[in-house]
Amino acid sequence: MNSNGQQRLSANTAGYRGRIAPTPTGLLHLGHAATFLLAEQRARNAGGVLILRIEDLDPPRCKPEFTAAAMEDLHWLGIRWEEGPDTGGAHAPYQQSLRRECFLAAWAKLLAGGFIYPCARSRKDVATAANAPHEDDATPLYPPQWRPPIGTGTDARSPAGVNWRFRVPDGKRITFLDARCGTQTFTAGKNFGDFVVWRRDDVPAYELAVVADDYAMQITEVVRGEDLLVSTARQLLLYQALNWEPPTWHHAPLLRDASGQRLAKRNAALSLRALRQRGVSPAEIRAALIAAPEQPAAFSF
Ligand code: GLU
Repeated sequence: MNSNGQQRLSANTAGYRGRIAPTPTGLLHLGHAATFLLAEQRARNAGGVLILRIEDLDPPRCKPEFTAAAMEDLHWLGIRWEEGPDTGGAHAPYQQSLRRECFLAAWAKLLAGGFIYPCARSRKDVATAANAPHEDDATPLYPPQWRPPIGTGTDARSPAGVNWRFRVPDGKRITFLDARCGTQTFTAGKNFGDFVVWRRDDVPAYELAVVADDYAMQITEVVRGEDLLVSTARQLLLYQALNWEPPTWHHAPLLRDASGQRLAKRNAALSLRALRQRGVSPAEIRAALIAAPEQPAAFSF
């Protein structure tokens, strides 16, 4: 074991394993900081391991310079991870763009089980369904009458060329206990319809990739924003179909700007980079987030 105990933590696969999973489509902002600091705190309190995983699957939107900036900003903020793209670890690589084999194996298992089907619907339908995570609640449901008969596509050798959708069990209620939000219940076919697991442009969709990676990396608790509660219901269906033990969840509150909107790239002034350039310290950010995790008034640095 080295002097700071990292080797012991990395080998502790039976204990708590959390992760932070930024998507490098822009600079990290205060909202990311809030969620990631919470994830780190929960991992430390449990005496566990924190993993950094870069979710860079969407080729036109994800950029290497944003990956580099995210890692630099997280280091600046003082977040420490035991496993990640720079530190390595038993479950490397920690970048989704390098983990295609893991996602293909999950796709093949879903296909063999008859849970997914190829779908050649229009780009507009597809774009709507493929935009997860952080979908708008108003996302239209995929019409069940468009589903092909069970067994369609089971002879496919590769997912390339069409969208692959998960056949949701209409009417099934999916219930889970969230550590912060309490018991959550969603109904398949009502709160969401058949969702995309692999995109026509041959990129695994968020729902499949995140489940395959959380399982492969032996994540025990997922800490992420509460806008993904409905995604968790979809992901539970994937865990059941794949016959994998799911993690537990802690969905964090979302930071909102002064107008009540969720922080996003448009809040450039609240990016960690901008705050740092204005002389705000990591300690001030940590203190403000601890004092008022949901109130925009606290963020007028
Ligand atoms: N990469 C996803 C995001 O940026 C993470 C979602 C998750 O934690 O499952 O929202």
